[in-house]
Amino acid sequence: MIEYNLIKKSPQTEARLGSLKLLHGIIQTPAFMSVATLGTVKAFTPDEVAELGGQIVVANSYHLYLRPGTGIVKKSGGLSKFMGWNRPVLTDSGGFQIYSMTGLGKVTDEGVTFQSHIDGSRHTFTPQKVVEIQRELDSDIWMVLDQPVGYPAEYPEAVRSLERTSIWAEQSIHTAGAESRLFGIVQGATYENLRERSAKELTTLPFRGFAIGGLCLGEPPELTYRITNQVSSILPQDKLRYVMGAGYPEDILEMVGAGIDLFDCVLPTRNGRTGSAFTRIGRINIRNARYKDDLTPLEDECDCPVCKKYSRAFLRHLFMAKEILGPRLLSIHNLHFYYTLMREIRQAIGEGRFAEYKQNRLQELKGETVK
Ligand SMILES: [Zn+2]
Repeated sequence: MIEYNLIKKSPQTEARLGSLKLLHGIIQTPAFMSVATLGTVKAFTPDEVAELGGQIVVANSYHLYLRPGTGIVKKSGGLSKFMGWNRPVLTDSGGFQIYSMTGLGKVTDEGVTFQSHIDGSRHTFTPQKVVEIQRELDSDIWMVLDQPVGYPAEYPEAVRSLERTSIWAEQSIHTAGAESRLFGIVQGATYENLRERSAKELTTLPFRGFAIGGLCLGEPPELTYRITNQVSSILPQDKLRYVMGAGYPEDILEMVGAGIDLFDCVLPTRNGRTGSAFTRIGRINIRNARYKDDLTPLEDECDCPVCKKYSRAFLRHLFMAKEILGPRLLSIHNLHFYYTLMREIRQAIGEGRFAEYKQNRLQELKGETVK
């Protein structure tokens, strides 16, 4: 079940407030999805993620298929139940991981053959198999197998990726059948004509939503936003739009303004583990010596459980002493930062003042970033 209800658009932008009814619950969009690649948002219990404002997480079919295997997940009642989350989960196909972790492997029109990064065993993912894996995981949103390309990509390579992705999209839709929970993935690298072709081909198929793949791979932000705006304007109003792997708070603000509804990124948790904290005026690195005697909270106005209780000096001490609590506390603050950003974005769209909100936040974020 995937039912999208567009509630309101904010003037002067394409920003959309909506609600999305899924198998495991209803979520409000635009939404940020925390990354739970292996079925866990690193260092959090599912209840903590929900308490901070998490509505839906992203897990990875490739990883879960290899370990622990889809059989035990199915036996337990599906991924959402297996991981103790009991709320919506989107599963990525794992295509991106196969390419980035194992090299290209062997890609043909039938699918991709690769070696497990865990034990070296050989596997083949076809578009059909990737749908079947996600059916077994019983996730709320399924992603098709696609063929992403890196940045920069040569034109012929981008064409090949687009054409294969379109062929696989049709096969995936056929396998998923009537109760499809599938999202298509628009490819085409940084070529506007290819992006247009990919979006037009995919929107002829009965997908429940559309992702824009192959962005946030190191290309200049202006290019990311131009492609996002262009593709988003071609996608149908009554379907979800998702930019995979986005992004920094600046990216999210720009992309919400382009009409994007869903985001996922490892940044809040990955940066949290390395000592980098998001604040309204940019990022700070808590290991910096300037925080040694700083008894103020990580962020003055923040009402997260970490800022209410701990000082920068104590957090820095935890990181310098390699205490496990340090990465955990910074991850909590960072997730709270992202979920608060999304809550404020939804409120601003609801009140018809997103354009102004976006401009103010972007201006604020230009504050000093201390490495
Ligand atoms: Zn905080």
